[in-house]
Amino acid sequence: MSGTRVLKGIGVSPGTVVGPAYVVQWQLPDVPDRPIQEEDVPGEIERLHAAVDAVRNHLAELRDRTQERAGVEEAKIFDAQILMLDDVEFRGAVERLIRQNQLSAERAFEFESLELRARWAQSPSAILRQRGADILGIAVRVLQRLTGNSITDIIEHHEGPPAIVLTQELSPGLTVEFDNAHVAGFVSAEGTRTSHAAILAHSLGIPCVMGLVGGMDQVATGTQLILDGDRGTVTIDPTPEEIAEALAREKRREEREAELASVAAEPPVTKDGTSVELKANVDLPEELDDAAERGAQGVGLVRTEFLIIGRAELPSEDEQVAYFTRIAQRFPDDSVVIRSYDLGGDKFPVPFRPPREANPFLGWRAIRVCLDQPEIFIVQLRAMLRARIHGDVRLMLPLITGVEELRAVRKLLDVAQRDLRREGIPCADSIPVGVMIETPAAALLANELAAGSDFLSVGTNDLTQYILAVDRGNAGLADRFSSYHPAVVRALKYVADAANRAKLSVSVCGEMASEPLAALLLLGLGYSVFSVAPPRLAQIRWLVRQLDVGVAKSIAEQALQAATTQEVTDLLTDGLHKVADLEGLHGGWLPDP
Ligand code: PEP
Ligand code: MG
Repeated sequence: MSGTRVLKGIGVSPGTVVGPAYVVQWQLPDVPDRPIQEEDVPGEIERLHAAVDAVRNHLAELRDRTQERAGVEEAKIFDAQILMLDDVEFRGAVERLIRQNQLSAERAFEFESLELRARWAQSPSAILRQRGADILGIAVRVLQRLTGNSITDIIEHHEGPPAIVLTQELSPGLTVEFDNAHVAGFVSAEGTRTSHAAILAHSLGIPCVMGLVGGMDQVATGTQLILDGDRGTVTIDPTPEEIAEALAREKRREEREAELASVAAEPPVTKDGTSVELKANVDLPEELDDAAERGAQGVGLVRTEFLIIGRAELPSEDEQVAYFTRIAQRFPDDSVVIRSYDLGGDKFPVPFRPPREANPFLGWRAIRVCLDQPEIFIVQLRAMLRARIHGDVRLMLPLITGVEELRAVRKLLDVAQRDLRREGIPCADSIPVGVMIETPAAALLANELAAGSDFLSVGTNDLTQYILAVDRGNAGLADRFSSYHPAVVRALKYVADAANRAKLSVSVCGEMASEPLAALLLLGLGYSVFSVAPPRLAQIRWLVRQLDVGVAKSIAEQALQAATTQEVTDLLTDGLHKVADLEGLHGGWLPDP
């Protein structure tokens, strides 16, 4: 083999696993030209039905598993696809093409499904337009099967250890496609720690390395790999010694996890007695139990857009009420912060049909989408007002750039509330509204935004991206993306001061809050609410209990004087090593001393 055996990327979800690679190409396979004779027709029709039935059964299995793993509503995406496969007219049209035009089963299926997709894309009916992604998903599955190459099937039915899935780009949809029993880890060429698929893999506890620049072409399906989600490495064809060393490291990590978990019942209070609030970020419903069991004090960020990813239709109001109520009831003593849809950027669920944009992260995203589509937004606002009678549900707004957006939301909330009252539907009188500080504009307007809102929460993933003008998902720029850049540190200080002056709660809910180095910095800057991915709760709780706010403040003071990212990380690393035994903490997140 040529090239290096140890490929380097970015560790985005911790854990080390050893297993065979599975290289995924989630796209329509090339359909070969294969003319058939009249006598082949019955055989082709039989092949067609066998493939369609197999995909149908597979989708039904996936639906049942998804229902167990994520909930009834999430499982519905598969219902829509099954219905399409069962459609008599559609199957009849494919059969006719085989019979009358003597096309192979795969050619006929490809032709009819692409035809249908094109017709639906032109349809005035929103529902039919939305179904376009479903038809594509079905076509990929059926055609892969007819051409002898079905990804999910191979992964789910292969004997032996779970596979390490390699793909060019890991989408949030693909991340939830496989379950932990079949997938040991994910590797992608694109993406970084703050890509939404990375956040999802992390939440699901699946080790993941992204941004593997070069070298992926050396890996074929079946190649043995070690994936180290802490160091961000992938070792090809490891030696027995390398495997033994990797497994020993994983064992140490698990022991450390267990040690950390043993403080799960202890309050997150610093050595000098300052209480920190440790909340969880929840992307998928299945994370709720994990968050509660790890002692989260409520939820600091519910990414509601993940309710839609991979689905053909928007969730109904009742469905959202049920979901928000379920979250609130899981945390009866604490607040749960529901973020309105943050669509656009790298999250493109089908029902929204986002326009093609040259710069999606600077485009029609988040609050902009919601304010431009009040008919969709208001359903979500109504659901939150209704759920609030069952618990301390709060609303949080992403990607705010000005006070006028906040005012527009408050007006819509009034409308939602009035309508609900008129319709006799029980709902709360009001709901606390918080602003996410994710843009330089919002950071600079922190005082004005604090004056008009009930709490602030810093989304450091986006704030860093926009302050530094570095695409958070661009693996090639990953070493330039750092929340420890002095400009970000100063913005964080400005926002904390604004919130503290206004006596508002201010939290950090970006990935930064999950990092040990950041715990020290953020405490010192005046933050005392952290919202983190559930698997990080134990580590941050343990760390908070080692820290001293006085010391953190003096280190933060020095960090505010620093001129470079390196100076900031050096200060924090030295500071942290002085107060805590860091061995076994997630390496990828912590520079060596
Ligand atoms: C953030 O930007 O930091 C954040 C929490 O939001 P998201 O990662 O969902 O964009
Ligand atoms: Mg964000």
